[in-house]
Amino acid sequence: MISCNITWNTNMHHFLARLMFLALLLSSAAAPADDDSSVFAFSAADLAIATQLREQALQSDLAYAITADLTTRVGARAAGTPQDALAVQWAVNQLKTLGFDRVWTQPVTFPYWHRGEESAQLLTPGPQDLTIMALGGSPATPAHGLVAELVMFEDLEALQAVPDNSLEGRIAFINKRMERHQDGHGYGQTVPGRSSGPAVAKAKGASALLIRSVGTDHDRIAHTGTTRIPEDGSGIVPAAAVSNPDADQIERLFKLGMSPQVMLNLQTGFDGEATSYNVFGEVTGTAADDFIVLGAHLDSWDAGTGAVDDGAGVGIVTAAAKLIMDLDTRPKRGLRVALFANEEQGLYGGYAYLQHLQQQNPAMPLQHQVMALESDLGAGRIYRIDARVNPAGWDVISAMHALLAPLGIELGSNGKPGGSDIFPLINAGVANIALRQDASEYFDLHHTDNDTLDKIDPAALQQNLAAWVVTTWLVAQSGVDFGSGTLSSDDG
Ligand SMILES: [Zn+2]
Repeated sequence: MISCNITWNTNMHHFLARLMFLALLLSSAAAPADDDSSVFAFSAADLAIATQLREQALQSDLAYAITADLTTRVGARAAGTPQDALAVQWAVNQLKTLGFDRVWTQPVTFPYWHRGEESAQLLTPGPQDLTIMALGGSPATPAHGLVAELVMFEDLEALQAVPDNSLEGRIAFINKRMERHQDGHGYGQTVPGRSSGPAVAKAKGASALLIRSVGTDHDRIAHTGTTRIPEDGSGIVPAAAVSNPDADQIERLFKLGMSPQVMLNLQTGFDGEATSYNVFGEVTGTAADDFIVLGAHLDSWDAGTGAVDDGAGVGIVTAAAKLIMDLDTRPKRGLRVALFANEEQGLYGGYAYLQHLQQQNPAMPLQHQVMALESDLGAGRIYRIDARVNPAGWDVISAMHALLAPLGIELGSNGKPGGSDIFPLINAGVANIALRQDASEYFDLHHTDNDTLDKIDPAALQQNLAAWVVTTWLVAQSGVDFGSGTLSSDDG
C-alpha cells in the first residue's frame, strides 16, 4: 500500500478514473465476492456496492422520514425535560424497529436547567417589548425583574477591556453581528460573547448581560444557547439574547445619543440534577470487533422542534447505518449509531461515552473505535470532506473521494477534524472524517423557534445520506488502520 502513495498523489485522478471504470466492468460481470486485488484496499465488489448505495440513498426518503417522525412525535426536547425522556424512548423504539443488531442506552447525568418566565422591555424612550431568550445556564433576576441602563459593547473584547466592577448597576450589551459563511465560521467568531460574556459581565460588576443573537437571520426571533459557568465559582450574571431586529433598534438608540433603560425578567435557573441517556444502535461487523461511530445528538433546545439541530443528524446517521444493514452481507467493521444526550448544554453525552470507554479499558480506551463521524450542522448539502487521520488513512479517503465527487463534494484536507458530540473522542485521539455541510442558512434557524421541519429540503437530506453511506461503507470495508489512538490534537 505505502509503495503506491506517490503514484496515487501524482496520477490520482487519472488512475482513479481507470479504476472506477474497471470496478464498474467487474461488477456488471459478476465480480468475485471478495476480490482484494484493488490497490485502494477496496475490492471491486465493495466499490460497486458503494455506487449502488449512493444511488439508492439519492432515492431514499428514510433520513427525512426519521427526522419527521422525531420532530412530530416528540418535538422540542431540551435535556432533562419529559420530552427528552420521550425522545430516548422514541430512539430505542426506532432503532429496534429498524432492526439494529443491538440497541442499548447509557445513563448521562447533568445539572438540570429550566427556562421559566422570560421577558424584556425597552423603557427609553418609551416602552417597547424586546424579543429575547435566556441563555442556557442563566441564573434568575430578582422576582419581578430588574431595571437598569444599557452599556453597549462592540464585542466581548471591548467588554473585557473595561475595569473590573466598573459597570455597577448597569446591563452590558454585546452587539457583535454574526457573519454568514458556507462553513459557518462566523459562529466561532461570535459565540464567545454568548459563552463567556455572562462571566465577564459579572467580573465587570454588571447586573445582567444582553447579547445580539448569535444568528444570521433578520427575523424577530432570539437564538438561545448555552453559556459557560466558571469553575472557580465566580459566577455569571442573568443573561439573554435579543433578536437581530431588536439589537438593531437598541443600536440606533445609542446612535441617537441615548443610553436606554431596560427591564429584564428571567425566572431561570438550575434545579438539581437530571439523568438522560445516550442511545446506541449497532450493526455488527463480520471481520473484527472494530466499529465506526456515527454520531448525532438526540436532545435539542426548547425552541422550535429541533429539526435542523439535530433531528436531521439523527435521521442521516440512522438511515446511513440502515441502508448498509439491509445489504445481503454485514460490513467488515461494525457501525455504532450513537445518539448522544445533552449536547446543547455542554457535550454531556459525548463526555460520558468517552468516560465509559476509559473505565472499561483504561490502557486502551479507544480500542475498536476505528473512526468517528458526526452530523450536527443542520440539513444543508455536504460540499467537502475533511479528516484527521494518519497519512495511509488520508490516501484511502482521497481514493474514496472519487465516489463522492459526483455528489458535488470536494476533497478537503487532512488535519481538520469536525464534530460536536464526538469532540471528546477526537481530542482523545480517535480518527475522524468530517463531511462538511453547507451552513450558509443554518444559523438563520439555529436554537430558535424557527427550527422546524419545513426548513429541511428532502433532496439535501438525500445528498447527505448518499455521502454518509458511501463514506461509512468504504471505511467499514477498508482494511486500513486510520490511526485511532495514535493521533494527537496537533496532528495535521
Ligand atoms: Zn446540535
